[in-house]
This record gives sequence, C-alpha cells and structure tokens, in this order.
Amino acid sequence: PDGLPPLAALDNACLDWRNDASGEAAPHSSAFDDVYFSRHDGRAETEHVFVAGNRLTERFREWQEPRPFVIGETGFGTGLNMLCAWACFDAHAAPEARLHLVSTEKFPLDRADLARALAAWPDLARRSESLVAQWPEPVTGVHRLWLDERVTLDLHLGDAAERLSLLDGRVDAWFLDGFAPAKNPEMWQPALFQAMAARSRPGATFATFSCAGVVKRGLAAAGFTWHKSPGFGRKREMLYGEIAEPPLDERRRQTPWFTPPAPRPPRHVAIIGAGIAGASAAAALARRGIAVTLIDRLERADLEATHLQGALYVKLAADTNRQSRIYLAGLLHSRRWLAWLDPRQSLWRKSGVLQLALNDKEQARQTRFLANHPLPESVVRGVDAAGASAAAGVRVDAPALDYPNAAWVRPMELCIRLAETSGVSFLRGEVTALRRLETGWRLEMRDGEPIEADQVIVAGAAETVAFEQTTPLPLQPVRGQLSQLELPSGAPRLGRVVCAGGYVPPAADGVLNIGATFAPDDTDTTPREGDHRANLEELERGLPHFVAALRDAGTDLSPERLRALVGVRAASPDKTPYCGPVPDADAWREEYAVLAKDATRIPEALGRHHAGLWISTAHGSRGLASAPLCAELLASRICDEPLPLEQPLADHLHPGRRLIRDLIRGK
Ligand code: SAM
Repeated sequence: PDGLPPLAALDNACLDWRNDASGEAAPHSSAFDDVYFSRHDGRAETEHVFVAGNRLTERFREWQEPRPFVIGETGFGTGLNMLCAWACFDAHAAPEARLHLVSTEKFPLDRADLARALAAWPDLARRSESLVAQWPEPVTGVHRLWLDERVTLDLHLGDAAERLSLLDGRVDAWFLDGFAPAKNPEMWQPALFQAMAARSRPGATFATFSCAGVVKRGLAAAGFTWHKSPGFGRKREMLYGEIAEPPLDERRRQTPWFTPPAPRPPRHVAIIGAGIAGASAAAALARRGIAVTLIDRLERADLEATHLQGALYVKLAADTNRQSRIYLAGLLHSRRWLAWLDPRQSLWRKSGVLQLALNDKEQARQTRFLANHPLPESVVRGVDAAGASAAAGVRVDAPALDYPNAAWVRPMELCIRLAETSGVSFLRGEVTALRRLETGWRLEMRDGEPIEADQVIVAGAAETVAFEQTTPLPLQPVRGQLSQLELPSGAPRLGRVVCAGGYVPPAADGVLNIGATFAPDDTDTTPREGDHRANLEELERGLPHFVAALRDAGTDLSPERLRALVGVRAASPDKTPYCGPVPDADAWREEYAVLAKDATRIPEALGRHHAGLWISTAHGSRGLASAPLCAELLASRICDEPLPLEQPLADHLHPGRRLIRDLIRGK
C-alpha cells in the first residue's frame, strides 16, 4: 500500500571458500556458482576494469567541486572495488575533496564472511575495519556508513534495478559489477541500465568486466555509448563508456512540488535550535567543511538536565507505511551513527528496548506487526512474558517486542558533543526574524547584532513556526514531564529500556528516569505533582514487580521525592517529522490551486521554496531515532549529494506535504 518494495530481511550470501590459481581460499558464491574475486589477482582486476576503466586516477586528481565525487555500483559483494576506489582517491585527490560511494547488494555477506574475505588484502586493513565495524543489518533500504572523515558509503540493500530506481542522487562513475550475465541474467535487465542512465550526471562514465550482448544492447538503449578494450587476464575484452546527456528524471511528474531547489552549496549556515535536530545537522554540515553558527537562547548548562536518559526507540505500525519505514531507517541509522560517533558508549548504552503489550489490542497489533515484518531478530523479535522477563531482568507479565540492539542515550551530553564539532560555533541568543538578502539571509537577534549566513536551518521544535516564512506549516506543541528518582543502593536494575505508555531506562549513576507525560497544546514548563503521579501510575501498570522490588529495597516512591524535567516537543498533524526546504506557501496555493477542483490535473510548475531556508522539526518524542537521519538528509540535500533515504520517503518528510493535502481537500 505504500508503493515501495516490501520491507524485508535479506538472505545472506551463500559462500564457500575455494582455492584459486595461487592455491589460496577465495570466496565463491554457491548460489550463483561464480567467484567474488580471485585472490591471486582480484586487486589487479579491479584496478584494471573499474578504476582505470573509469579513469579515476585522473579524475580524482582534477576534482575541485565542493560536492563529493560519486561512484555508483551494482553488486557490492565484499566491497573490494569500493575499497580500491577509496585508496585511489586518497592517493590522488586534493585534501578537501570528498568521495561518496553508492552501492547496491541483494545478498549481503554476513559480517564474518566479509571480514574473512577482506583479510586477503593487508594493505586495505584500515579501510576494511571501518567497513566491517559499521556493516549494517540485512534489511532492505539505505544504510549510510561514515568510512572516514571525507568518505561516505551508502549501501542500498535490495535488488540493484529496484534500489537505483528509488535513489535520490546522481552518479559520476559506475562500476557495473555483479555475477556474470550468463549466471545472473535477472540482474542485467533493461530496467537496470535505464535506472543507471536516469541517475547519471551528464558525462557519467561506466566500466564493466562483461562484454555480453545483453550488456552492450542494454547500455546503448539506455543512452550510454560503449567501447571495447582488452579485458583483464584471460578475459579478452571489457566495456567502458559514458552518457553525455542523461534522460530527464520522470519520477517528479506526479509530484512537481517536491522537486528540490537547485543546489547552491553554502560556505556558512546558521542553525536555529541546538537540540538533537539542530546539533546533529550542525555536525553533519561541519563534517562537510561548512562553517556553522549554532544558535540557541539557552546554554545546555541552563537546562539542569543532568542524568536525563532518552530512549532510542520507535513504535512501528502493524502494516508497513512510509512513516514507519522512516522510523525504522532512523532507528538503524542512529544506532550505527552513535557507535561511530562514540564507540566507547559514554553518551549512550546499547541496552536494548522492550515494548510491552499490556492489553489484548496491543498484543494483536504486535502479532500483526511480526507477521508483516520479516525482520532479523537482531532488529526486533517477539517474546512471551517469560522471554520479556529474562530480557528485562525483572518479572514482566506481558509479551513484548524486543529490540535487542536499541539503546538509551544522554541527549544533553550528546548535543554538547555535537556542538563541539570542529567548524561549529555556538552562539547564545534569540532570533526574532529571518530576512532574505540578495545572496543569503539575515537573522535579526533580540539582543545584539544581526547575523548573516548563506543558508539557514530552523530546528527549534515547536518554535520552528515562529517565523513569517514557517508559520504556514501546521505544528503542535506537546508538553512532556519526566520524573527522576534517586535509588538507594541495592535497588533492582532493569536489563532493558522498558516501554509501555511511557519509558524507563536502566538506572545509571543511581538515578531512575521515568518518562514521560504527553500533553498536546500545553507549553507550560512548570513542574506538576499530578504529572509525577501519572508517571508513577504508568510505571506501576507496566512493571508492578519492579515497583514492588524497588519498595522492598527501601525506595521512597512518593511524588515529593521526584525531580521533574519538563520539555515541549513538537508534532505535525500526521506525526511524521518535517525535514526539507521551506515551501513558499503563497506561491504553492496559487500554483497548485487547481488541485482543489481536480486532484488529477497536476500542474507542471515546480514547487517554489524560500531559497536556502530549511527545517528539521516535528520529531515528537522520537527525535533520537529521526533527527540524526534527518540531519544527514538535509546536509546531503544542501551539499548536492545522494540522499540516505529512498526518494519516496524523503518526499514523505517534505515540509510542504500538508499544504498539498489541504489544497486537494479544498481547505
Ligand atoms: N563488487 C564486488 C566486490 O568488489 O567484491 C564483487 C561483486 S560479486 C562478483 C557480485 C555481487 O552482486 C554479489 O555480491 C551478489 O550478491 C550481487 N548481486 C547479484 N544479483 C544482484 C541483484 N539483482 N541486485 C543487487 N546485487 C546483486
């Protein structure tokens, strides 16, 4: 129903290890009866066919664009091709140049096979380690890896043609790999060559080891010119070529309003709001060499939020929909990102999250969810009450969904760490208005001089819509109060973050967080005793045995003993975050007015936006899962790079979606 290929766990590659010409064990696919590479000369073949076939050495040497050079690949396999391209980039590109790798893979190796295969190349060890450490779960979708400070890899897991047709991004050089056409005819189809053509930059090149007729015909029909050259080793010939004028991307015809503004990579970006959305966007841009001024009226030290723990947790819909896919992608993304940012887990802890089903309705929902989502058990699994008790470390009377790799996070410390990224400067102050200049923006400040920047991101939770340009976006404030309790020594400890109505992470440093209330349209931040009571009731309802054990250990659970932390989150009407360019609402209402009469008469006009103004907000109480992914999405869009999400999902986050919906409904 959401128009995307099914969300599923992918089968891992079936490998055996066969001795090659040099007598060494090399990975061989039992399913396709073909080799990944020859251990004897696999490196030399990659260099000859893919690196030289795309003239990468010269092109890296000459690369001077602010955006990264993008390589696209079909069939990631062991990653040997991409690691060689990365090594070539390091040897020849300027220090400020960046490289973006996009690769598809339908049968990902498991981590142990990947490590074993790559062990054949000791001089690639540092690169292999980075890849193996971030190797994603085998789930269809886009998985972004930060290979080093200037090299990013997006693994698009799933069928090559399908994944490339969903890619939002364009490629400079293609590695057309994959098992030989005779052994893997399903992959070498016209749809694949067409998707490559449509995702190519003008002048994009390709290279492939294969010289088969289907390949030559398919490439030519899609608009590529090809040439033969001597193949590697015993292979007589290979193909290389290019596409001068890629075809127009037809996908936007149905949704011209979502067409992004033409990219103008900035040098300086101002970000309003230093919470998780703003701070993660600041770090993402700074990593790309952009100077960031991160503005907040509060310093972190003002917030008294010591000991605060948030849950990296999502509630996925029983039937897959776009919002749910975004949250799942966000959960997986945040986990990889946290491990990359803070491998020693000082800002977060891999605790796992248990989502209890306390009533029949929720049990039925979870059962349906599991039936509809064949995900790996390392992502989510169903457990009965006994399994839930074992995971939680205390008796639980309900079945649950268990996310064993989910986590809790110290959000304040995380934001501080992100704001300390080199290239980010923090400014305390309040922005009162945004004024468009000839080439950028001026931010008027309540006290102090205005600030000028090339572009602006507004990430101020519920206050995001306080500006003239952003007020047309419907956004609701939601008050939340969390209760904190100091535990006596010897108090029982949870083994997981446990969620039902609220959430309770395992106590850290002797403090138990009990979160949180949910009060739409309430912006009052004074603590309330009634909210403490509500949090305690919720805790008792989900974890009665834990509460009894706390009392037995001498814990005083009266509301007067609790410390309150109050925040105001922001929610959109459809509960999906807003992430993207800010639409010019008046222009949209004019240009798309015809939709009110007939929603099938789609105008050709592209959506007009406030140039260089972006938002990331409406993360509700799931910001730890959605905000870091949205930060990468914005940074990628701003810097003209491939996106870390499928195009339909990026569109689903577009801040203008409600304007179109309201126009169609005649509101
Ligand atoms: N480029 C790889 C390397 O550097 O190690 C070697 C590629 S290996 C010869 C071929 C890869 O294509 C395998 O990993 C296989 O699972 C993948 N593959 C096969 N059919 C595919 C398809 N339809 N979509 C995506 N990947 C596919």
